[in-house]
Amino acid sequence: MANLIDGKKISAEVKARAAADAAALKEQGIPVGLAVVIVGDDPASRVYVNSKKKACALCGIDSYEYALPADTSEAELLALVEQLNGDSRVSGILVQLPLPKQIDEHRIINAIDPKKDVDAFHPVNVGKIMIGDFDFLPCTPSGCMELIDSTGIDIAGKNCVVIGRSNIVGKPMAMLLLHRSGTVTICHSKTKDLAEITRRADILVAAVGKPRFVTADMVKEGAVVIDVGVNRLPDGKLCGDVDFDAVKEKASWITPVPGGVGPMTIATLMCNTVTAARLQAEKA
Ligand code: NAP
Repeated sequence: MANLIDGKKISAEVKARAAADAAALKEQGIPVGLAVVIVGDDPASRVYVNSKKKACALCGIDSYEYALPADTSEAELLALVEQLNGDSRVSGILVQLPLPKQIDEHRIINAIDPKKDVDAFHPVNVGKIMIGDFDFLPCTPSGCMELIDSTGIDIAGKNCVVIGRSNIVGKPMAMLLLHRSGTVTICHSKTKDLAEITRRADILVAAVGKPRFVTADMVKEGAVVIDVGVNRLPDGKLCGDVDFDAVKEKASWITPVPGGVGPMTIATLMCNTVTAARLQAEKA
């Protein structure tokens, strides 16, 4: 029976650290603020934005919400990003994705000042992560690393398997495990014999977006299992990418959904905002 990795508890510790750091910066007169931009009225995006604002309030970080209508043009959003890049109260800029189809996400991300890119999606920050010399880490993979570290297990030399190769989760997750000397395999929808690969994983990270996709027969006895997936079931309940009830009988450590990776993503965002504020003050 696996030990539960308690993302709620660990994220509270991370947020407390961010709050202490934010208070110390503010005492020196350095503003610590997060601009959150939401375009349209996607209910899931609204929930995420509200959670981020709540976390800011808890950590003593000023938050500035910019809620734009769904028919906002790309030029209008670019103009707002430009304005926020130049706003000294704003340490970090977060544009909630997905964006309406008339707006090119890449153009918007590329327009954010890399020093304010607290999601670490800008190509400059992605490149820095690749070479291991980074200011910010992408929030979800970084949160997953904290959860793995909380188990006390040394990643070096472990077989690490990441299912999913998205730019925001799978790829950076694999890179962070590699930086810590894991032996990393990335799987995706074209991977052959997936279960045969996942059964070799000492550390298995699922970022697929399919409810209960990872079944017990895909998991090695004693593996650490990190479930990034957030899937809404027809009855409205949330569930991860891992068949939690069956897999917990085999894993040594496992994250629940909800209460695992999700809270860590927001906690890391708070840390990144504080880091952004510090970096901008140092370079001013
Ligand atoms: P995504 O962009 O849709 O990527 C999903 C990945 O899964 C793709 O690389 C896809 O492969 C792969 N995949 C799909 N079917 C597969 C199969 N049958 N076998 C193996 N691989 C398969 O999703 P994402 O943005 O990375 O997010 C993944 C999940 O994490 C979602 O549930 C999302 O809601 C959740 N999420 C949670 C948080 C959090 O804070 N907890 C944050 C971000 C995302 P291809 O590349 O070949 O298509």
